[in-house]
Amino acid sequence: MNTTAAQCIDNVDVLIIGGGINGTGIARDAAGRGLKVLLCEKQDLAGATSSASSKLIHGGLRYLEQYEFRLVREALAEREVLLHNAPHIVHPMRFVLPHNKNLRPAWMIRLGLFLYDHLAKRSKNLPGSQQIPLANTSAYALPLKDSIKKGFIYSDCNVDDSRLVILNAIDAQTRGAQILPRCECIGLKTQNNTWLATLRHQDGTTRIVQAKILVNAAGPWVDNIQNLAAQHGSNATGKRKLRLVKGSHLVTPRLYEGTHAYILQNKDKRIVFVTPYRNDFSMIGTTDIDFHGDPANVAISAEETDYLLQSVNAYFKQAIRHEDIVSTWSGVRPLYDDAHGNASTTTRDYVFDVSGGTGSSPPLLSVFGGKITTYRKLAEHALEKLAPFTGKPQPWTHAAPLPGADLPNADINLFISQLQKNFPWLPKSTASRYACAYGTLALLFLAEKNSIESLGQHFGHDLYETEVKWLQAHEWANCAEDILWRRTRLGLYFTPEQTLALQKWLKKHTIR
Ligand SMILES: Cc1cc2nc3c(=O)[nH]c(=O)nc-3n(C[C@H](O)[C@H](O)[C@H](O)COP(=O)(O)OP(=O)(O)OC[C@H]3O[C@@H](n4cnc5c(N)ncnc54)[C@H](O)[C@@H]3O)c2cc1C
Repeated sequence: MNTTAAQCIDNVDVLIIGGGINGTGIARDAAGRGLKVLLCEKQDLAGATSSASSKLIHGGLRYLEQYEFRLVREALAEREVLLHNAPHIVHPMRFVLPHNKNLRPAWMIRLGLFLYDHLAKRSKNLPGSQQIPLANTSAYALPLKDSIKKGFIYSDCNVDDSRLVILNAIDAQTRGAQILPRCECIGLKTQNNTWLATLRHQDGTTRIVQAKILVNAAGPWVDNIQNLAAQHGSNATGKRKLRLVKGSHLVTPRLYEGTHAYILQNKDKRIVFVTPYRNDFSMIGTTDIDFHGDPANVAISAEETDYLLQSVNAYFKQAIRHEDIVSTWSGVRPLYDDAHGNASTTTRDYVFDVSGGTGSSPPLLSVFGGKITTYRKLAEHALEKLAPFTGKPQPWTHAAPLPGADLPNADINLFISQLQKNFPWLPKSTASRYACAYGTLALLFLAEKNSIESLGQHFGHDLYETEVKWLQAHEWANCAEDILWRRTRLGLYFTPEQTLALQKWLKKHTIR
């Protein structure tokens, strides 16, 4: 790597590689502590694992079986924090667990749920667990086979995972961080106890960043960054081992009425979730398959599809078939390899690999594992680890709402009603989508709008020019895929023709 005099050098305290939930969470925390931060992401923000999750903010009931009490306690506590700090995109959900005495005895489930209810403080929005009859006509029982006579119900939350990433990136930027999507780290070396990184933008131009600290939050590519650092003089140790585990989901037309989810036990001891998704769909997942390919090319296999269909068909009256699948997605979990034989029981807890920080070697912190749910705490712990090099150890994110979270009485339904009252021409479904995606940020792009026509060109399914412009200007959206699959999830509804029309518009109205 040659640094020529012509190349401009950015000087920062912390360079973060990776714009998933962990990278953006750390960027936000670090920027809020007064550090000069630059984050680079080689594709779109949340372009990899952080938009391919099961979209749950949960303690992880099944981790209790693996005695992961630390993780479950922290995740349950974070569930509360996120409900409070992001009530627009994190919503309580009831989970129905049909009982199958051949898989787990009732006493074991009761004990697990008791612990789940009591390991951390639980707000009134998350009612406790209970055993329920399912041999009746309740909404919980209706879709299930008649042979299922009883079950359990408990609370967790769902989230729009890619929007959580964007909100962290927005807040990081507001606090001074530079956020650079479509900008890949292609070279790393050390010089005078600092990092010199070469970043390449999508258009091929490069820039050099000099950083006191490097944070490797590259998710499934964490080893690549460690190798890049090790090749060029750092003592990046690479002590931690990575285990890549693929997980896939199916989307079908909505399988049942109601806002609750199902957690289905399988014969292999794994569980599969069925959750309502975007009003009209159900989401089914996930799987745990060791993955050895290129994480950029991950896709669902025929075996995973059959496995997920069979899981649902073992419990639901109305069998679902391959023809019912309207969409799928797969992601790769960048897990810390705790040498567990089974991909499903490999820990979901996070671990840091910290090297350098002594002699002439600058500090490098690499992130292994983690959950969407625990990202904020992970960021706090990362900054704690880096405190000897930053001197700014004060945590602050615990009670800091994310952008758009200042809803009246922290009540999303009240906010939807207010939006409808203030903008009576806005269809209820649109008001509701804006509220659940942007919270009070929606008021910024709706300001001075007075009719549906004033929102500009309509691309279909309540996506208007005003929103698209907002996404371009404030949320780094660059192409139709960013908008349809990570910012709004309207891709599930858009026809190829509608997508093409949006692409054409974006081509004409590119923001540089
Ligand atoms: C199927 C599945 C279901 C899950 N369900 C849940 C759930 O319900 N709840 C939950 O809490 N967690 C869940 N998780 C876990 C959670 O999704 C992950 O732990 C989390 O998204 C990992 O985030 P990350 O930031 O570490 O990685 P990523 O989101 O993958 O981000 C890493 C980023 O680094 C970028 N990058 C890599 N190399 C470079 C480079 N050289 N230069 C610039 N950028 C680079 C990549 O493009 C990528 O965007 C699930 C995971 C999977 C796979």
